[in-house]
Amino acid sequence: MPWFKRAEKGIITPTEQKKETPDGLWYKCPSCKTVTSMAEHRKNLSTCVKCNYHDRVGSKEYFAILFDDNKFTELDENLTSGNPLDFVDTKPYPNRIVATQKVTGLKDAVRAAYGKMNGQDITIACMDFAFIGGSMGSVVGEKIARAIDHARKTRTPFMMISKSGGARMMEAGFSLMQMAKTSAKLALLAEEKLPYISMLTDPTTGGVTASYAMLGDFNIAEPGALIGFAGPRVIKETIGKDLPKGFQSAEFVLEHGFLDFIVDRKELKDRLTDLLSMIVTEKAENGAKAKAAKSAKAS
Ligand SMILES: [Zn+2]
Repeated sequence: MPWFKRAEKGIITPTEQKKETPDGLWYKCPSCKTVTSMAEHRKNLSTCVKCNYHDRVGSKEYFAILFDDNKFTELDENLTSGNPLDFVDTKPYPNRIVATQKVTGLKDAVRAAYGKMNGQDITIACMDFAFIGGSMGSVVGEKIARAIDHARKTRTPFMMISKSGGARMMEAGFSLMQMAKTSAKLALLAEEKLPYISMLTDPTTGGVTASYAMLGDFNIAEPGALIGFAGPRVIKETIGKDLPKGFQSAEFVLEHGFLDFIVDRKELKDRLTDLLSMIVTEKAENGAKAKAAKSAKAS
C-alpha cells in the first residue's frame, strides 16, 4: 500500500480562486539578474539599481524625462505609412502597420514634439523600437524632416533620439531616400547655426547610423548601447577575422572617436541643458562680436 493516497478525488482550485502574482510587478535585470519592483525600476528611469544597465524605453519615457512636467506639443501626430511597393511578407504591409499600431498605440516608429527642457525651448524627435524594430520608412524620414523644419522656423535646438534596426525593408528604396532627405535638412539646420544633438540608444544600426544619427554637432550615447552599421556576424564573415571584445558597444565606439560622450539617463536632462546653454551663450556672444565688428567697420 502506498504511504500517500489521495483520499478525496477532484481537489481542484477554480481559476477565479487561484492567486497569481500580477504581471509586471517585478523587474529582473537581464545583465546582473537583480530583481527590483517595477515601481522602483521606473523611478530609476528604467536603469538597473545595481549595475546601471539601461533598459530600452520609448518616446513616451524619453519625453517624460526631458520635457518639463511632461508638457509638450506633438508634431505630425497622425502621419501614417502608405504601401508604395504593394509589399507582402508573412502578411501585407498595410495589415502589419495596422496590427503594430494596435499593439503599440503608436502611429509609426518616430514621434516628434516641441516644448521646454529646464526652461529652454527644444524640438525633439524620438524613435520607438517597438514599432517594427524602429525601422526607418517614409513616415520616419518625413516626420524627422518636418521636426527639423520646425526647429529652423522657431530657431530652437534640435535633438534626435535614435533606436533602430535600420531601414524598413517593406519600403525598400523609399526608406533609403530618407537618409538623403534627413541629411539635407540637417545641413540646412547647420547652415542656420542651430545646434543638433544626436543621441544613440540601444540599438542604433543600419541606415540610421549611416545618416542622421551620426551627423550631430554632438553625437552622444547611452551606456552599453549597441551602435553599428552592419551586424557583427556579417562583418565577421566579410573580414574573416574575430572581432575585438566589446565591439560595437557605445564605450568601444567612444574610444574610437565616433562619439563625444556617454551619458547616464539619470543625468541626461541636466547634461543637455548645460551643453545647450554653453552653445547658446557662445552663439549670442559671437553674434554680439560680429555686430560690434560690423558697426566698427561702418563708422
Ligand atoms: Zn543590473
